[in-house]
Amino acid sequence: MNTEKGSISIHTENIFPVIKKFLYSDNEIFLRELVSNAVDASQKIKRLASLGQYQGEVGDLLVDVKLDEAAKTITISDNGIGMTADEIKKYINQVAFSGATEFMEKFKEANDANEIIGRFGLGFYSAFMVADNVEIETLSYQDGAEAAHWTCDGSTSYEISAGTRKTRGTDIILHINEESSEFLSQSRLQEILDKYARFLPVNIRFGTKTTSEPDGEDEEGKPKYKSVEVDNIINNTSPAWTKAPSELTDADYLAFYKELYPYSMDEPLFWIHLNVDYPFNLTGILYFPKIKNELEIQRNKIKLYSRQVFITDEVKDIVPEFLMLLHGVIDSPDIPLNVSRSFLQADSNVKKINNYITKKVADKLQEIFKTDRKGFEEKWNDIGLFIKYGMLSDEKFAEKANEFCLLTNTNKENYTIKEYYEKVKDIQVDKDGNIIYLYTHDSAQQDSFIATAKTKGYDVLVLDGPLDTHITSYLEQKGGDKVQLKRVDADVIDKLIQKDEKQELSISEEESKQALSIFEKAISRPDMKVEVDALSAEELPVSVTIDEFMRRMKDMAKTNGGMNFYG
Ligand code: ADP
Ligand code: MG
Repeated sequence: MNTEKGSISIHTENIFPVIKKFLYSDNEIFLRELVSNAVDASQKIKRLASLGQYQGEVGDLLVDVKLDEAAKTITISDNGIGMTADEIKKYINQVAFSGATEFMEKFKEANDANEIIGRFGLGFYSAFMVADNVEIETLSYQDGAEAAHWTCDGSTSYEISAGTRKTRGTDIILHINEESSEFLSQSRLQEILDKYARFLPVNIRFGTKTTSEPDGEDEEGKPKYKSVEVDNIINNTSPAWTKAPSELTDADYLAFYKELYPYSMDEPLFWIHLNVDYPFNLTGILYFPKIKNELEIQRNKIKLYSRQVFITDEVKDIVPEFLMLLHGVIDSPDIPLNVSRSFLQADSNVKKINNYITKKVADKLQEIFKTDRKGFEEKWNDIGLFIKYGMLSDEKFAEKANEFCLLTNTNKENYTIKEYYEKVKDIQVDKDGNIIYLYTHDSAQQDSFIATAKTKGYDVLVLDGPLDTHITSYLEQKGGDKVQLKRVDADVIDKLIQKDEKQELSISEEESKQALSIFEKAISRPDMKVEVDALSAEELPVSVTIDEFMRRMKDMAKTNGGMNFYG
């Protein structure tokens, strides 16, 4: 084969300065792109063999990443399908550059360059972000194919000649440029591979590592170990989310959680295995972490993959806002490899994926609630905050969550919204026919009011969580007809219509009047109402309540700059 020189047809002088400039912050993705090309080439030979279109031995497929610090090169090798010289011209020169040409045209029109760059998978050409010269040595799987060699210095001209490869596959050799010397480091490359290639479906080897192996016994009969150098395979080729849920045990899911978050101390509460192939393709596992309080919530723990290649852990837009505190993995080939925020927002698949995830999470919660209510109630402490957040922020989710959102009373009994309505609807009614839900936000402080309510046969909800002020208005709006929430220390308990007639007071009317005037004088607050209303001598004979209206005014005054309403 003669050496052939050519010029890449591209309207712009040189695309590489542009690529370098704008992708600079993210230039580590060159390795992701080249390793995933090598994986693609490996998968292709496997597929050809299974279709009977390749008679040769497929062998053990392996992608090899090699660093030569002295020569300042990084080489990515595979034993995949390889390329003929014609294929290089077609796939590397033309196809990739046509993408690049389009890129440049769009780039000229764009007001936000980053937005545009995110939309183009520059794939192979991302190598030029870090290399000033790139070589390809390749031999196609096809019978009688000749090895080919291609080289390009990042200008628009390339050189193609006979190659030296003796076995099927491809080497991509990067001559790393001055500014990118950070990549000539074992640990830096290991870090990038861990990030992007950890779950790729073909073994990726990066040098060797030392491990210890059993080596017989010493004189005392104790086991001996020796250090051996073994291949450093950086990936797990079949991560849990790629398997069928029926193949996996709880221990497998927990082990995978550990694999994703080795430093996590807690086990997840439960998980959801996502698996859909229509109308879009998506797999994944979402874990519900233990949430102790809202300060501990960690966002951006979900990792986004596309065909087992890590893309990003910025999953905003794909995952609904209220689910951002879940952990786990989502993998969809329908999510473009080079994602940018604006692209995601515009993409219709992304909207569908978002809705699907919301639905799956709601369905799973409902399933747990129905099949194991006790277990669900035990988890409520950890998931309640998240479910309430979801209900307040997502209407679709709220529709479903209405059935399993729990209200807890001062006796630590849990009720669904509907059950609670049924429980109090005939008992806690005011003269206008409103159904009054009593609640406390601080059961220690409102202890005596709770006690009074209880003796009257009323129920008191505990609403002391960070979102519960919003939940009270939610329940008023959606909780059924004429539901009103009143704080237990508001002047409301006595205004409720009781089923049973009032019992006789255990103290005389005279005693009662005396007590009243003593307390009114002592308290001397016009906004507080004193009542003497004891049913038995052991009970608290006097209650002091703040009018609900006055209480709200007071709360408002507090939030409006913290001034004391009463001076
Ligand atoms: P994409 O991977 O999206 O097709 P790339 O720019 O990454 O775009 O690669 C362009 C093409 O070059 C690939 O589609 C493939 O045909 C060819 N190619 C790249 N790397 C290899 C490789 N290691 N082995 C065989 N073919 C390759
Ligand atoms: Mg590619």
